[in-house]
Amino acid sequence: MTVHQNFIAGRWTDGAEAAENYNPSNTNEVIGTYARASRKDVDDAIAAARAALPAWSRSGIQQRHDILKKVGDEILARKDELGLLLAREEGKTLPEAVGEVTRAAQIFDFFSGEVLRLAGEKLASTRPGIEVEITREPVGVVGIITPWNFPIAIPAWKIAPALAYGNCVVFKPADLVPGSAWALSDIIIRAGLPEGVFNLVMGRGSVVGEAMLNDPRIDAITFTGSVATGKKVASACVENMRKFQLEMGGKNPMVVLDDAELGVAVEACANGAFFSTGQRCTASSRLVVTEGIHDRFVSALTERLKGLVVDDAVKSGTHIGPVVDQNQLDQDLSYIDIGQKEGARLAWGGERLKRDQPGFYLQPALFTETSADMRINREEIFGPVASVMRVKDYDEALAVANDTIFGLSAGICTTSLKHASHFRRNVEAGMVMVNLPTAGVDYHVPFGGRKGSSYGPREQGRYAAEFYTTVKTAYTQP
Ligand code: NAD
Repeated sequence: MTVHQNFIAGRWTDGAEAAENYNPSNTNEVIGTYARASRKDVDDAIAAARAALPAWSRSGIQQRHDILKKVGDEILARKDELGLLLAREEGKTLPEAVGEVTRAAQIFDFFSGEVLRLAGEKLASTRPGIEVEITREPVGVVGIITPWNFPIAIPAWKIAPALAYGNCVVFKPADLVPGSAWALSDIIIRAGLPEGVFNLVMGRGSVVGEAMLNDPRIDAITFTGSVATGKKVASACVENMRKFQLEMGGKNPMVVLDDAELGVAVEACANGAFFSTGQRCTASSRLVVTEGIHDRFVSALTERLKGLVVDDAVKSGTHIGPVVDQNQLDQDLSYIDIGQKEGARLAWGGERLKRDQPGFYLQPALFTETSADMRINREEIFGPVASVMRVKDYDEALAVANDTIFGLSAGICTTSLKHASHFRRNVEAGMVMVNLPTAGVDYHVPFGGRKGSSYGPREQGRYAAEFYTTVKTAYTQP
């Protein structure tokens, strides 16, 4: 049995234990066996990162550019193979998985360029004869904690800028999907980084994650995951007086106005709510629809859902893969039950499905006749479940869209420039989509939300420098 090991202080090492990773499309299939790190392993990884920091933080930009470029090139060259691994371990369809791998390659490519563009500012002082120079320095040792739903893209969009700006990394992927993270780490490790700059510690949040949170030798933590874990990360970081960034849940609204093009709205909602099995933080789980188009929209969306094939993620013709595991399936089914008990009408789906092979298959569920106070409209379900809320007009739609503790992404389908512009200005979300699904973003522009969805600087694009660097203001009298 091959155990995929952790990588600590420049060496592949066994963990305290190892666990198997299963295919949610076929639970008889083991993807591989992956080490789980102990607290001592985490301790060693942090020590190695600290030891490597002085040299790496002063490394040349050409060296960093070349390494990141090499990583991006290898990911891209292997996108089909890595996409297959990702689809098998996470359950998104093969085209979605290959798309995610391609995204990871593009992110490394983007940050290989950003290394060369890092600049400071020089200003005149208010005091004559003095110069003021503002520069960005690495933040130090960065702890990276990632969720299971984007097993290669989210690690990529944290690791690439961390290394680009001269930081050392301790990376803890989600326990459920170590395969893609391990493959990415293997590529990074072979690209020529000095010993200790990059460390992989796979394993449980309660062991590996907590050991990272409680170690003051980590200078900054970047976290993507649930609100509950995000709160733990925040309080540990405050306790240790360190920088942190949180990307958490969503309950993203998609507003459909009477004047929307029906086909555009149905496609945006089917994609935003149900593709990637609805397991996206940017999924449109609340469809806010004005009464003039409501009935036509519900019947067209229901017809669209009837045509979606739910099956093995790697089978050609599959539109929706399985739910990631039994726990998430139980959570989805329990919310489908809660919705019905709350008085919502289950207009389509919500049934557990049987396929040729044993897997966590769920028919996408659409609720109608729902209201903003129902739990299915307030709590993140994180599955292929969406609910329609009928509203009178645009003003009510905007109020309902904003009636949430979350604020990640929001969308509107309309042909009215007036309403689109008003919505862009007034919706309380970090990202706004007009006539586009709430999910699906570019890699060279900022990603992140407001309210309970995010905390700290934005990720991705040039804005990533805010988190991965710290500013120094130097005064000099020549
Ligand atoms: P999770 O919070 O359970 O786990 C996220 C990571 O934290 C995992 O690596 C996990 O092992 C680790 N962890 C768990 N307990 C920990 C602890 N006590 N200390 C330190 N680390 C710990 O989330 P998940 O189930 O993997 O991911 C789903 C969630 O992620 C959803 O809420 C989704 O909305 C969110 N998400 C957000 C974004 C975004 O950018 N806003 C993107 C993707 C996913």
